[in-house]
Amino acid sequence: MFFEREEGGNRAVLVHIDLPDELKREDSAEFLELVRSAGAEVLVLIGGSRKSPSARLFVGDGKLEEIRAAVEEYQADLVLFNHSLKPSQERNLEKELGCRILDRTGLILDIFAQRARTYEGKLQVELAQLEFLTTRLVRGRTYLQSQKGGIGLRGPGETQLETDRRLVRKRVEAIQSRLKKVRVQRETSRRARVQAEIPAVSLVGYTNAGKSTLFNRLTNADVYTADQLFATLDPTLRRIELEDVGTVVLIDTVGFIRHLPHKLIEAFQATLQEAAEATLLIHLVDAASHERDDNIDQVEQVLDEVGAAEVPTLMVFNKIDRLEQQPRIERDANGVPKRVWLSAATGEGCDLLLQAINERLAIKIVKGLLQLHPAQTRLRAGLFNLNAVTVENYSEEGHCQLQLRLPQKDFRQLLSQLNLAEESLLWITKP
Ligand code: GDP
Repeated sequence: MFFEREEGGNRAVLVHIDLPDELKREDSAEFLELVRSAGAEVLVLIGGSRKSPSARLFVGDGKLEEIRAAVEEYQADLVLFNHSLKPSQERNLEKELGCRILDRTGLILDIFAQRARTYEGKLQVELAQLEFLTTRLVRGRTYLQSQKGGIGLRGPGETQLETDRRLVRKRVEAIQSRLKKVRVQRETSRRARVQAEIPAVSLVGYTNAGKSTLFNRLTNADVYTADQLFATLDPTLRRIELEDVGTVVLIDTVGFIRHLPHKLIEAFQATLQEAAEATLLIHLVDAASHERDDNIDQVEQVLDEVGAAEVPTLMVFNKIDRLEQQPRIERDANGVPKRVWLSAATGEGCDLLLQAINERLAIKIVKGLLQLHPAQTRLRAGLFNLNAVTVENYSEEGHCQLQLRLPQKDFRQLLSQLNLAEESLLWITKP
């Protein structure tokens, strides 16, 4: 590991200061969830309010004494701030309190580092961590150790600080080149899916909305879930089979969170890009959350930023088991499914979601009554093989007529296998 962590456990004193500035304001309930997600033990939450942060320590002298007393009383290992601290403030606080200080960005990075599942996700997080670290490299403090020890690594007259910077730069370059390779691979497989016309359904939503739970339920996959934020960090791809559409790729994306550190937004830009290229977005919402509307806004804002605002979206309200709500599909004036109410945990309404996805994607369905020439026996067999025939009849002249219903993609594939042009077919009715 590249960080040289100070020794010690995870017994934490939490500090949350209310600031009047809307942009800087954080939520203390979410803070508690973040801290638990990181695996820290909460000793006490110290609250307070200020007009603006103090330049040297973020908090004022009185608050500092309160924190110091709590650190001593509870024998804390670290103090967590629900705010972004400047590197100098972090250092000053560390000096004053004599224990590890972690700000909101550091905390979120730590959680991301713990949860990243795929190779690409891990690289992305490490890159963001290194960039966070560079701003904290200062003279007289060493965060880095070279794997082989200092001898021979340090150039003539090079200070520890310069060595540290050089090590970080080298590591950043190595990660960037690996990331490039991974991205090429992902792009190749994405193109293959597009070419095969496999619709992609991307699951997006605020962290803790229940994405992993729903993903597992729909795919019966064993994706890691926990009652923690960030159970999902990397896009995970699975296929599901839908009645009218055939194979669909379901993509689980990174969890959204307000005030995500900028470096992380950049790191996950490529991941979120997948959302922008999806055929359909499922925006999952924790309907039981007090922050419901706010979280919806946050997610929509990020979707807008990554250019996914125009992708057709199905809103899914989860956790109805906690509310007095029935599973149901809500439709617009044209009968198109717009919202689904369900519980990913109990499973009620999940069949409705599949039905709604089916309806939203199944626009390219071939339906109609097709008349076959006597010579088209292979076409008839192929259509039966695809389960596409709902009724078979014979006309008065003895022509075979098939009532069809099948995905356009499968139909085209069959025709090209048989070397048949679409124009050569005789449709009796085709809605
Ligand atoms: P993610 O962060 O969006 O991937 O969310 P998870 O799938 O990890 O779920 C977050 C928490 O919500 C977990 O504790 C789940 O057990 C819980 N959860 C998910 N779906 C439901 C639901 O339908 N009802 C209830 N009561 N809890 C749920």
